[in-house]
Amino acid sequence: MSDDMNKDIEYNLTESNKEDKQEVKDSAKDKKIIDKEKEYKDDYEDICYICRRPESKVGKMIHIPNNICICSDCMQKTFDTINTGNVPYMDMMNLGPMMNFSGIQNEIPKSQKLKKKKEEKKEDTKTIDLKNIPAPHVIKRQLDDYVIGQEHAKKVISVAVYNHYKRVAANAMDDIEIEKSNMLMIGPTGCGKTYLVKTLARLLNVPLAITDATALTEAGYIGDDVESVISKLLAAADNDVEKAERGIVFIDEIDKIAKKKSTTNRDVSGESVQQGMLKLLEGAEVEVPVGATNKNAMVPLTTVNTKNILFICGGAFPDLEKIIKARLNKKSSIGFGAELKDKYDTETNLLQKVTVDDLREFGMIPEFIGRLPVIYSLEGLTKEMLVEVLKEPKNAILKQYKKLLALDEVDLIFDDGALEAIAEKALEKKTGARALRAIIEEFMLDIMYEIPKDDNIGRVTITRDYIEKKGGPVIEMRGCITPLLTE
Ligand code: ADP
Repeated sequence: MSDDMNKDIEYNLTESNKEDKQEVKDSAKDKKIIDKEKEYKDDYEDICYICRRPESKVGKMIHIPNNICICSDCMQKTFDTINTGNVPYMDMMNLGPMMNFSGIQNEIPKSQKLKKKKEEKKEDTKTIDLKNIPAPHVIKRQLDDYVIGQEHAKKVISVAVYNHYKRVAANAMDDIEIEKSNMLMIGPTGCGKTYLVKTLARLLNVPLAITDATALTEAGYIGDDVESVISKLLAAADNDVEKAERGIVFIDEIDKIAKKKSTTNRDVSGESVQQGMLKLLEGAEVEVPVGATNKNAMVPLTTVNTKNILFICGGAFPDLEKIIKARLNKKSSIGFGAELKDKYDTETNLLQKVTVDDLREFGMIPEFIGRLPVIYSLEGLTKEMLVEVLKEPKNAILKQYKKLLALDEVDLIFDDGALEAIAEKALEKKTGARALRAIIEEFMLDIMYEIPKDDNIGRVTITRDYIEKKGGPVIEMRGCITPLLTE
């Protein structure tokens, strides 16, 4: 081979090498762009053009030209409007102003995206192991860490839950069917009904849906129909039907759907909602929308069986005490052993003597009560119990504030007088433990505002005088703090 030829080949080789390198560079560039786009897609989510809610809230979007995304709810509403208006359904493509988005191109931001929230690493969310259900005393002990008092209620609920999940586990074993242990909790507002159920669901690691009976209506009326609670439960179970089928549904304010006393007009709100719930309580296959609370054409449906779902109903049942008292007084004043007619007038905790007949008298229909075999009551919180609620539970309000100030290296102390004063104020409000947080927040605002101003403050003691607005808190500087007796 001549030298020239050799050079030619060499030249060609280097050229092709260069080309190859260029190609590699290009593909690396492309890869980078693709990676960036992917990262962007992973990090950002679409927003509905109409309601402005992000994809994480409303589910998958429908993409239409001009980079517009619309959520299925808004799309459905648009269809509904078209169907009820004069625009024929099939004329959709010429909808004119209704669906014509071409003119709004300039208004659309370059991208309808929202940065996604970083997903928290979820703990292992395995639901309870049915073969290894914690024994009632273990459940009760765990509840004790959070819920003050209510000994009877905690005991009943622990046994009922234990039996319920045992029943679920034993279901397939033989023909003897153990009855479902749905519950009815009676107790004044703020005594811990919701809190008890929430704590229980968290301890057992089962999904929980909480709903208000007043928001429920018979199917066909405006409002949520009774089956919407199952949709909520499914959402709480991350759309896992199997998990939802072992969950807990808490229906609060159940006393508000009692049958009205007057018989002149048909009562659509109360009695019929009770009727509507019968099927759910007993166990039925319910068709529910996935990722939405109302059924519409755009969302997929799934079937959930409520046979193993534990239903807990709760309510304050005002005036139920009067019904119980009247029954007891009537009984005791008849016959030879007649006692004083007003023997029960001063009795506390009359609610514990509740019977099915009292509830029927109150306005609950017999079929409904029949499906809630475990009935128990919770006591109203006393001053001493309120003080305990303030400081004892694992996540007590005082512990939370102490921790907040400890981050500023300030010691926060509530003396006994202050705790009592807070409890007394809460009692006046008659909303149970609910009032506590509002009362504390009111005066903690000043503390949280003033204390960080001065780095030298080492300890703040809240006193009864401060709560009663007769004086200020006791403030001690770092270096001259008197040791506490308990230290
Ligand atoms: P309700 O009985 O009206 O459902 P909640 O359970 O919602 O009342 O109580 C409101 C708040 O008061 C709860 O979030 C909880 O912090 C507190 N609380 C109520 N009762 C107790 C209790 N027995 N033990 C501890 N905290 C309680």
